[in-house]
Amino acid sequence: MSDEKQSEVAQKLELLKQRFREKASADIEQLQVTVEQIGNGAGVEGDIASVYQSLHRLAGSAGTFGYTSLGEEARQLELTLKQLAEGSPGRSEAARIVRDAPRLLNAEFLSRVIGLKLLLQQDPAQRDKSADDSFYRPRVSEIARKSVVQIVDSDASRAATLASDLELHGFQTIVSASPGEAEQQSVAYLSAIVVRATPVIRDNWKLETLGGKAPVICISSRDSFAKRYQLAELGASGFFYDPVDVPVLADYIERLITEREEGESGRVMIIDDDPELLEHYSLVLERGGLEVFRVNDPSKVLMSLSEFRPDIVLMDIQMGRFNGPTLAQMLRFDQEWLGLPIIYLSSEEDKEFQLEAMSQGGDDFLTKPVSDAFLLRAVLVRCERARQLDKLASRDSLTGLLKHSLAKSEVQKIHARSRRAKHESVVAMLDLDHFKQVNDQYGHRTGDLVIKGLANLLRHRLRDSDVIGRYGGEEFIAALPDCSVSDARAVLQSVCDQFSRIVFTGADREFTVTLSVGMAPLSLFPTSDDAIEAADQALYQRKRSGRNGVTVQGDP
Ligand code: GH3
Ligand code: MG
Ligand code: MG
Repeated sequence: MSDEKQSEVAQKLELLKQRFREKASADIEQLQVTVEQIGNGAGVEGDIASVYQSLHRLAGSAGTFGYTSLGEEARQLELTLKQLAEGSPGRSEAARIVRDAPRLLNAEFLSRVIGLKLLLQQDPAQRDKSADDSFYRPRVSEIARKSVVQIVDSDASRAATLASDLELHGFQTIVSASPGEAEQQSVAYLSAIVVRATPVIRDNWKLETLGGKAPVICISSRDSFAKRYQLAELGASGFFYDPVDVPVLADYIERLITEREEGESGRVMIIDDDPELLEHYSLVLERGGLEVFRVNDPSKVLMSLSEFRPDIVLMDIQMGRFNGPTLAQMLRFDQEWLGLPIIYLSSEEDKEFQLEAMSQGGDDFLTKPVSDAFLLRAVLVRCERARQLDKLASRDSLTGLLKHSLAKSEVQKIHARSRRAKHESVVAMLDLDHFKQVNDQYGHRTGDLVIKGLANLLRHRLRDSDVIGRYGGEEFIAALPDCSVSDARAVLQSVCDQFSRIVFTGADREFTVTLSVGMAPLSLFPTSDDAIEAADQALYQRKRSGRNGVTVQGDP
């Protein structure tokens, strides 16, 4: 997030705090009037419920806006009333409430309610100051595709060779001769920093400070336990030794990127009927790099879910005429939302109540008031877990690409969308050449590395909006929306060229692998299956006519 954006968010948060103060002040005034009436014996049953609800609301929200003591005191008062207000609504119960209320809501209770006003006038505590810095990291998903690797090495020609090798895998590189130069050349976001181990150990570099926010990988001329241990102690994230197996290094960096991506992003839907709280939570999570969809009206939730497809849902428990657990149970009617994690945000501390609510379709509880830093961390952790689970189901474990069936259905969606919008789109089938020989000569594990190498290159070279799937063993599918056949041909031809120059190592020998691509204009076929079939035919034509390159359906 830019500085400008940050201060805009800070202003909005301040405005919400003001609005909370005004509302709470009015609520406490009203509370005082009602409590006085009840104390005088003039109140009725409904008044007690409204006092309880006001206190419950204050207890749940005041802390979020920095009024910790106000929230705690409201909670105490709420607990005093709890049994009275929540008793089973029989006739004798009503009689008991009316009988007991004036005794409970006595002069002392009234003076504590008046005391709430004073607590509201106190300056709110400075909240989470130390944790705030960690909010301001750039979002990985916004920049990961640019994947920049910085190489720090005083040997210029060795650095240049590594740089051009890494570029074949789709990375951008910056070469620096020294840590000082590296600092000056630093860009806003780095995927990784690769340094030589010798100066690191000799000069005792603190790698966390050199790396800042990027993991540091050390390359050593020799391998030893002592060296590895020393580097780990200095904060290294990876270790390689000469001669560096670049495809393995590239895959290692790729894994670091994926881990960070999963740990720092997510899509959250927040359902809360209190507009200030909803906005506050949303801003806090957005500032932390999450995408947020706000739902203020619970009756709109089904439509919003299909539109936004969140990783997790945060849901208030009491939302006017709607009840969170019932809403959660209703969402589970749809097969599609059976696995969607739903986390209740509630000021209810009663464990029995929490269990009861979770048995009705919820997965977890966050108790209000929740601090900004805690909310962000808790949500990030849950998003990460949700994404990992989702990935297990939908992603191929070797390459991280979409599995066959999901890839097909995504291609189908692009087909439908591009026909509707009258945009051109392209589908391509990609297959490694003579791959059986690679396995036979260099072993299956080296073969796996080649498959991952192509997957990673495709991820770097294609756009976010493109679909890439692992169709079969060494066969891939890609769909490019809003793209002409000639543009698609150019980019896939350059992927072929780049891939053919990557040097793999297996059984102590170096080798290269080529790939063949068949393409068809997706949007010109009546169904996506027809287009895939045509791309497959083009692929076979390419295999017959010499492999290593692109053939488009209809090419002579
Ligand atoms: P062509 O150029 O005509 O495509 O020849 P090819 O040898 O690549 O084609 P073929 O379909 O005969 O062989 C594909 C090989 O890919 C056979 C299979 O063992 C191997 N393979 C499939 N999945 C994997 C995998 O996950 N890992 C490894 N290492 N090999 C795989
Ligand atoms: Mg093949
Ligand atoms: Mg094949």
